[in-house]
Amino acid sequence: MPSGRTHDRITLWTLPLVASVTLALTRQSPFTLSLCAGFLFGGLMLGPDLDIHSVHYKRWGWLRWIWLPYRGSLKHRSPFSHAPITGTVLRVVYLLAWLALFGLGLIAIVNELWQMGWTWGQIGQVMQQGIVGYRWELLGFAIGLEVGAFSHYTADWSLSTYKQVKKKGWQAVFAGKKKRGSRGAGAGEREAEAVGSG
Ligand SMILES: [Zn+2]
Repeated sequence: MPSGRTHDRITLWTLPLVASVTLALTRQSPFTLSLCAGFLFGGLMLGPDLDIHSVHYKRWGWLRWIWLPYRGSLKHRSPFSHAPITGTVLRVVYLLAWLALFGLGLIAIVNELWQMGWTWGQIGQVMQQGIVGYRWELLGFAIGLEVGAFSHYTADWSLSTYKQVKKKGWQAVFAGKKKRGSRGAGAGEREAEAVGSG
């Protein structure tokens, strides 16, 4: 599998392509900007390799511990981290759960300490207005997240396939003729990915 650095380079090199295709298709600068922001965030921070000790994981700095339960409960390259749609959806839901915990906790503290008198109904209404008002930007951001993650899956898959073809030949890989001791990514490969992520 490509190292974290290679994944970063792929994300940065493909950014101009993603931006120009989106702008050409939508002719909407705010949407394009949100999609590019999502693409960068999805490729550099909220990436599939949060399921191991990777560059994605380290980039969360002193907040990195929030990903420990995620890492602990998923096998590296499991369909819940490394498959289209499910990977991104799970990471977004997981992150939103933490955000809700921190955000609502902070609101409750401010409300209490400064006697703001906000009700949860009012807070919900403000949040709803924000979501409705920025729905297109949020949609662009979500699509960007998925495209960013997708470039990662594609790179992982391409390199794994290339290595297998080199080792066993086209026929064995694509006609499904299995040789002994050739079950997907080996431990050595997994290690190389984690270390290279530095
Ligand atoms: Zn990966």
